[in-house]
Amino acid sequence: MNGKLLIVGFGPGSAEHITERAKEALKESDCIIGYKTYVELIADFIEGKEVISTGMSEEVSRAQAAVKLAEQGKIVAVISSGDAGVYGMAGLVYEVLVEQGWKEADGVKVEIVPGISAINSCASLLGAPVMHDACTISLSDHLTPWDLIAKRIEAAGAADFVIALYNPKSGKRTRQIVEAQRILLKHRSPDTPVGLVKSAYREREHVVITNLQEMLDHEIGMLTTVIIGNSTTFLYDNKMITPRGYQRKYTLTSEKQPLKPHERLKPKNEPWALHGGKAEPTALYELGMKALQMLDKKEHQVSEDSPFKQKAESIFEVAVSPGVANKLFSAEQLLVLSKAAGEKGSIEYTPHHQVILRVPTENPDQLVTTLQEAGFLLAPIGDVATVKACDFCDGEKKDAIPYAERLYEKFNGLDLPKEMRIGLNGCGMACYGAVNDDIGIVFRRGKFDLFLGAKTVGRTAHAGQPVAEGVEPDALIPLLENIIAEYREKGHPNERLFKYFKRVKRIQNFEYRDIEPKINLEPAPCGD
Ligand code: SAH
Repeated sequence: MNGKLLIVGFGPGSAEHITERAKEALKESDCIIGYKTYVELIADFIEGKEVISTGMSEEVSRAQAAVKLAEQGKIVAVISSGDAGVYGMAGLVYEVLVEQGWKEADGVKVEIVPGISAINSCASLLGAPVMHDACTISLSDHLTPWDLIAKRIEAAGAADFVIALYNPKSGKRTRQIVEAQRILLKHRSPDTPVGLVKSAYREREHVVITNLQEMLDHEIGMLTTVIIGNSTTFLYDNKMITPRGYQRKYTLTSEKQPLKPHERLKPKNEPWALHGGKAEPTALYELGMKALQMLDKKEHQVSEDSPFKQKAESIFEVAVSPGVANKLFSAEQLLVLSKAAGEKGSIEYTPHHQVILRVPTENPDQLVTTLQEAGFLLAPIGDVATVKACDFCDGEKKDAIPYAERLYEKFNGLDLPKEMRIGLNGCGMACYGAVNDDIGIVFRRGKFDLFLGAKTVGRTAHAGQPVAEGVEPDALIPLLENIIAEYREKGHPNERLFKYFKRVKRIQNFEYRDIEPKINLEPAPCGD
C-alpha cells in the first residue's frame, strides 16, 4: 500500500510561519482535504492539487474521506490551522483509523506534521504571557459537556495556570466566556492581565490587552484566543509578561524585583520547593505530599486552605541601620529586629557592613513604621546608591557628619544601572574604606578628596582612583550630582561604576587611568 496520510498543521495563517516540513508535505500530496477558509489561507502552496474542501462541521466526513483516499494509494494532506494535534484533525483521523483496526506496521502510513498552535502564536504577539505552567481549554461545548469544561476552568484557575481559551465564543455560543470569567474571578484578581488576539498573523490581526474584569467589554469571536495571566503576570509597556520564577522580592523603592541570576537555585530562596528551603523535609514538604495524595485519591476540591490557593511569595527586603554615623544598635532595637524577622524572615550581615532584613509579607507598611519608630534608618537595597559613612571616631571628629547626612538624603536609594556604594570617611585615615567604594570621599582639613571606581572583589580588585583633591565643601554635592547623573544616564544595565569608567575613559573631567593589576590567570569565580 503506497497511500499516505499527512496531517499538517500550517500554523497561525501566514506563509512565514508554516514549517518547511509542512510546505514539503503539501507539495508531495496528491490531494488536500480541509475546511474552506483554511484551504484559502494556504492557496499559494497547493496550486494545481486536487482539493476537497468542506464546511467546518464536517470534520468527521473529512477524516473518513482522507482515510479512504489514502487506502486507495493516494498521498493525502489533511490540513489544520495551528497544530493539527490541538483541537485539530490529528485525533479524529486516528479515531477513524482505530475504528477499522488500523496498525502502523501494515496500514497506510501516517505522518503528523507539527505546527505553531494559537497559544504560541498569540502569546508572541502579546509579549511573553505563557512562560510558566500553562494550559489550553476549549470553551466549545459541542463535543464536550459544559460541566467538564467548567471543572477544568475551576481547576486551572485554582492551580494558577496561565490559561489559553480556544473557541471562546461564536455567534450562538456566547454564555461560555461569561461563565469562564465568573469562575476565574473566584481565583484571580480582577486586574489579572488578559490578552485577546484575533486572527494572529492573518490579515485582520487584532491584539487587545485588557484584564479579567474588563475583558468582556472587548470584541471576542471565533477567531480569538484569550490568554489569561497567572497571579504573577504583569504588564509592562503594553506587553503581557509572566516571570519565569515565582518569588518576588521588593524593597522600599520598587514593588517588583525579580531574583538576580546568582540568587536563583539557592535552597533558601526556594521556600516553596519540596525541600522547603532546607535540606530536611519541612511542613511545606508535608503539605506538598498531602496535596499529591489528595489528587491521587481524586478527593480534590478547592477549599480555602487548599495548597493551590497559595499566592506568589513576596519577600520584602530592606537595609536597617541605627544611623548614618551612629553604628551602635541598642538592645531594644535588636529585640524589635528579631521580632520583625520572626520565624520566617532572616537577618543578614553583609560583607559591606549592611544589615539586611528579609521578611515574607504582602504589606510592609506596618513593618516599616515599627522599624522607624525603633529609631532605625531604612534603606532600599538592589541596584541603588548606598551611602556609607564612618563613625567619625565615635563622633569625636564630627565636622563632616552634616555632609554625610546631606549625601544620605540626596543620594541614598537612588535607582542606578547597578548597585553603587558612596563612602564618606571623616579623616585621612579613611579606616571605613571609602577608597574601596565606587565613589570614595575623604574629608581632610575642611575639604574633600575624591576617589572613583574601586573594584572591590575579584583577583583584579583595586582601590578607587584619586581624581580630585581639596574639593571645596560647596562644590562637593554638585560634583557628585553630575557624576551620578552621567553614570545613571549612560551606564549600561548591570554595569558597575568601575566598568563604566573603564569603558568611557572619562567621567566629567576625570580621566581614567588603567590601574587594574595585570594578572594572567583567569579570575577565579567564587568557590574555585
Ligand atoms: N489547531 C488550532 C486550534 C483550532 S480550534 C491551533 O492549534 O491553533 C480554533 C480556535 O483556535 C479559535 O477559536 C481560536 O481560539 C484559535 N485560533 C486558531 N488560529 C488562530 C489565530 N490565527 N489567531 C487567534 N486564534 C486562533
